[in-house]
Amino acid sequence: MKRVIVVGGGYAGTALSRALDKVADVHLVEARDRFVHNVAAIRSVVDPSLLDRILIPYDRLLHRGRVRQGTVTGVSAQGVRLADGEHIEGDIVVLATGSRYASPFKPQGDSTEAFADELRAVHAQLESMNKIAIVGGGAVGVELAGEISTAYPGKAVTLVSGSPALMPGYSDKLAETLAAQLRSKGVSLQLNTRVDTLASPDRPFAGSLDTGPEEAGTQLVFPAMGARPVTTVFDQIPGVSRDSQGRVVLDAWLRPAGAQHLFALGDAAATGDPMTIVAITRQVPWLSKTIAAVLAGRPLDSLPPYRPWPMRGILVPIGPSDGASVLPVLRNGVQVGKWVTARLKGRELFIPRYLKEFGYDGATQ
Ligand SMILES: Cc1cc2nc3c(=O)[nH]c(=O)nc-3n(C[C@H](O)[C@H](O)[C@H](O)COP(=O)(O)OP(=O)(O)OC[C@H]3O[C@@H](n4cnc5c(N)ncnc54)[C@H](O)[C@@H]3O)c2cc1C
Repeated sequence: MKRVIVVGGGYAGTALSRALDKVADVHLVEARDRFVHNVAAIRSVVDPSLLDRILIPYDRLLHRGRVRQGTVTGVSAQGVRLADGEHIEGDIVVLATGSRYASPFKPQGDSTEAFADELRAVHAQLESMNKIAIVGGGAVGVELAGEISTAYPGKAVTLVSGSPALMPGYSDKLAETLAAQLRSKGVSLQLNTRVDTLASPDRPFAGSLDTGPEEAGTQLVFPAMGARPVTTVFDQIPGVSRDSQGRVVLDAWLRPAGAQHLFALGDAAATGDPMTIVAITRQVPWLSKTIAAVLAGRPLDSLPPYRPWPMRGILVPIGPSDGASVLPVLRNGVQVGKWVTARLKGRELFIPRYLKEFGYDGATQ
């Protein structure tokens, strides 16, 4: 059986590995000891008991393939080299190294225990402070404002964004619906307000923002200013370049610099999609089918190239019962409200689904 090496066991790498497990000898290399279901990290800030179910071991993910814990430091189309010196040879290599995000929404290092400790510490800080500021009006900032204002209606929550509307990149209608729901929960929205310097852009901190009278005085400040692609392993591939977001530029078959038998997907890769799991749900079926065909001897250029989602879908809960979403169907997408958003995502945050995909029924501790 031909070997496929997948680098990175986040949403993209794990889904692709599962999809290929029956047709290839999959070796998934991941730096962390557990998968981090970061979608639910936002609610974990108000309810850290969720941590027992969102840090999921990799041991039951693959039936035939193997998950190897390690950090890849060298890549070629023939295989990968790990930090401990091991070299794994393969017929196809796929890079899914993802992105970083401020704490406590994604781990800052490779220890998921340190991630859990940090998240619990932020929760304790949140409990002890009554004024909260969130900097960033994208999905993470909006969801966090929704979670905090739902769980702690007595706290003063301010959401600060440099953009004129919430959810840059999405429709005015979605932004307005979410803004109205947040305001009805008492969240103060400071739009068009640039924060030039933050005491810490990567971690919550107790401090002040000098953007207006409401933000003066000590408060708990959460930076939520977007994802940063992780792409250092691509550096050794000749001719690699990055787009304005720092994602690696790919050809129409998701290959960096047209490299043979080397593919990329997810947040690290400029696929034409936004950095979302919604996007990954389109990339994985295409790439697994394409790789299966290549392994069966079909020339890549005889196969259909990847086509990104024609429009952006997103699910944005405001706590467990409220929120709004755009489903990536029809030409312009379809906006749905609280009821559908709660059922699709807000109530359970896909936790049971990911536990099941990883072979677990309930708590993983
Ligand atoms: C708080 C939060 C909530 C979100 N909620 C949603 C949502 O509800 N819906 C949605 O569509 N999107 C959501 N997103 C975006 C989503 O999380 C990303 O699109 C997704 O994580 C990208 O998946 P990925 O597999 O490309 O990368 P990642 O999930 O970042 O995984 C990359 C993996 O690669 C590993 N890795 C990196 N380099 C190496 C190396 N050299 N060697 C070995 N391993 C390596 C990392 O340890 C990591 O496990 C959210 C993002 C955040 C921060």
